[in-house]
Amino acid sequence: MSSSKPLDLRLPTPGCYADPERAGIDADAVFDGMTEHLFFTLGKLAPTASLHDLYMALSYAVRDRLMTRYLASMEAIRAQPQKTVAYLSAEFLIGPQLNNNLLNLGIQKEAEEALRRFGIESLAETLEVEEEPGLGNGGLGRLAACYMESLATLQVPAVGYGIRYEFGIFNQIIRNGWQVEVTDKWLKGGWPWELPQPDEACFVGFGGRTESYIDDKGNYRSRWIPNENAIGVPHDVPLLGYRVNSCNRLRLWRADATESFDFYAFNIGDYYGAVEEKVGSETLSKVLYPNDGTDEGRRLRLKQQHFFVSCSLQDMLRSLENRKISIKDFPKHWTVQLNDTHPAIAVAELMRLLIDDRYLDWETAWEITTQSVAYTNHTLLPEALEKWDLGLFKSLLPRHLEIIYEINRRFLQQVRLRYPGNDNILRKVSIIDEEGGKAIRMAHLATIGAHHINGVAALHSDLIKRQLLPEFTKIWPEKFTNVTNGVTPRRWVALANPKLADLLDKEIGPSWITNMELLKNLESRENDSNFLEEFGNTKLSGKIKLASYIHRQSGVLVDPSSMFDVQVKRIHQYKRQHLNALQVITQYLRIKNGQDQSLAPRTVIFGGKAAPGYFMAKLIIRFINGIAETVNADPDMDGRLKVIFLADYNVKLGEQVYPATDLSEQISTAGKEASGTGNMKFAMNGALTIGTLDGANVEIREKVGEQNFFLFGKTESEIMDLQNANYMPQSYIEELPELEEALHLIDLGHFSNGDTELFKPLTNNLRTRDPFFVMADFADYLRAQDSVNRAWIDKKEWNRMSLINCARSGFFSSDRSIMEYCNSIWNVEPLPVEITCDVN
Ligand SMILES: *Cc1c(COP(=O)(O)O)cnc(C)c1O
Repeated sequence: MSSSKPLDLRLPTPGCYADPERAGIDADAVFDGMTEHLFFTLGKLAPTASLHDLYMALSYAVRDRLMTRYLASMEAIRAQPQKTVAYLSAEFLIGPQLNNNLLNLGIQKEAEEALRRFGIESLAETLEVEEEPGLGNGGLGRLAACYMESLATLQVPAVGYGIRYEFGIFNQIIRNGWQVEVTDKWLKGGWPWELPQPDEACFVGFGGRTESYIDDKGNYRSRWIPNENAIGVPHDVPLLGYRVNSCNRLRLWRADATESFDFYAFNIGDYYGAVEEKVGSETLSKVLYPNDGTDEGRRLRLKQQHFFVSCSLQDMLRSLENRKISIKDFPKHWTVQLNDTHPAIAVAELMRLLIDDRYLDWETAWEITTQSVAYTNHTLLPEALEKWDLGLFKSLLPRHLEIIYEINRRFLQQVRLRYPGNDNILRKVSIIDEEGGKAIRMAHLATIGAHHINGVAALHSDLIKRQLLPEFTKIWPEKFTNVTNGVTPRRWVALANPKLADLLDKEIGPSWITNMELLKNLESRENDSNFLEEFGNTKLSGKIKLASYIHRQSGVLVDPSSMFDVQVKRIHQYKRQHLNALQVITQYLRIKNGQDQSLAPRTVIFGGKAAPGYFMAKLIIRFINGIAETVNADPDMDGRLKVIFLADYNVKLGEQVYPATDLSEQISTAGKEASGTGNMKFAMNGALTIGTLDGANVEIREKVGEQNFFLFGKTESEIMDLQNANYMPQSYIEELPELEEALHLIDLGHFSNGDTELFKPLTNNLRTRDPFFVMADFADYLRAQDSVNRAWIDKKEWNRMSLINCARSGFFSSDRSIMEYCNSIWNVEPLPVEITCDVN
């Protein structure tokens, strides 16, 4: 690294923002940076520094090395105005940051060397102490994180907007087989990756009333007089792309109480009243809601949504005003993507900001809104579709309700013209649900306000059109599209599976990491025994690491040569962990009955959190742990079957699990899983899938080939037929003695220390209602598991199939997804960032 002349930090020259001496990327410079941060930032001397101190020092040193790129990226947009993606999401499950930044900067080796000089032998040891920000529940939040990573890597200017929850998704511990939730205090040790920007704070109102008035020009106008306020303080996280200068911003809003509003309370001596309001608004960004699908009518959640959406839209408008760009050009500069309906209030809030605050007329404001906003649907499950009780909504957002009524009135007018006399269709498409208590349907608001609505896998997008929003599809067929989800190969292959990454580098060269279609080149090796063995060894190495983790966590020894059969994801009935668990019981019974000749030795691994209020999901966790206890303690099972429940499944643990898996369980009821992304992470890392025709499984099977995928189960239309034909689970049970016996054994208390009542709610549910068709799919699932067992016998053939899965997984890179969003929804171009001075 060299620099011709010292840079004056007080007077940054365009394109040149930092003292390159402070941002060098060789091991010496990283070491110096760490030393400096230990001393000046952390107030520690090297000899007494803890591992956590060294993690912090290294993180600050790495963050320094992002700053030039980050500021240059922000400056590039300012200097050369062009369209920026605003990705609005209530969740960003970004995972640990240090190793990702090291990888994307290309300084993992240098960091390791710097650590060595502090007496730390491995980078891994340091990475281990990083606390992950649990700012998401699962797939949806992780998708937002993969997309932000791909946006930066593809050099597309983007801002992620979300909430800086003080407490993220709870930590899960298992006590007596049950899930226990523990508060996630992820900020307690200090989190070095965020930059608070209090000078860019925004005000947000709640409650109060609206009033009409006549402005100076004699126009009738409305305004909102809230009776409660909060301040949003941006906390920015720089997100660097892979080996590029583009470093985008994740802007997370923290809610602070307003003070100015409460002078009155202080004056009349109501000190506690004033403090109460402060406590109230600080609670706003306190905690992430677990998605139990039943949080309808939760006031605080609606407040959170409006809070972060309002701050974000104000921030976008302000950015135009700062650059002297006309508000009417908003759609040329911002494309606003709604990650599910959680930010759908954006449609009404943008209208309000444009009409009430910027004095635009309705038509102009509506044009701006509908040209800017697009909506991604993530679920068809009726209980997960957001609806807000009208009374609640009105009490919190009275002006938004008026605006929504007007949006609805104009929209229904259009529909009436198209379908004269058809009141039925009006009822179906209205934003207001008139059945039962009146409620606001957020999916309808988003659909009416968006220029595109997309599903997240081909089947899902098709079902949106056919089942969820058929009337809207007739009205606006051109609005509906599909973008199949993807995952970033930087985190899910390069970071998570370094052994595989090395092999890929050696075999096809390093450009696979940004061009995953190149993995196809692996196919030429499908019959090369030596290569297949080498490929298989990368898997073995992942399994050895996971086995050691399992031993450390639970004391259970698992055999890395057994088949690692894995289902990790949120626990939900539609995902059918209980189908898998029941299948384990039949395997157990076969071994007990001496019919295990053809069974492959398996380690069946489960992991995932249940929403705290979801009784059946928590019972399924208890059930899995009951089976694990019985199976693992039985000497007859030794070397044949082990069952593990991994506590506290999160991104960090996922990085250990996906590369260590032989068999990926993707067994949701057809039509229920919108896409899934775990399925993609597994396939990229060479796992074979056993799965239903659901979500992206359909496309995975298409890509990897049907011979390399273990398919089972009823199709979505067969499930629909069953549902409409008075489904009787009992008839399926009667046809299958093995299933009958498994259920009977559970009811005898065999997996619950003799407690015959514990799992009754589960077995009764399966015998009588079975809402997710576990019984209907059981026989075919067993058949597919039998073919898995047969395939496992021929290790070379298994490795060949595994290689093909990896080789054909390129389509599931989030780079491909993001390119599709850019081209077919956002109409944005990359903006390569130049850094003219000589850094690095
Ligand atoms: C990928 C991922 C998910 C989503 O998994 P699915 O199998 O698609 O449900 C959930 N949680 C974490 C931590 C993940 O990394």
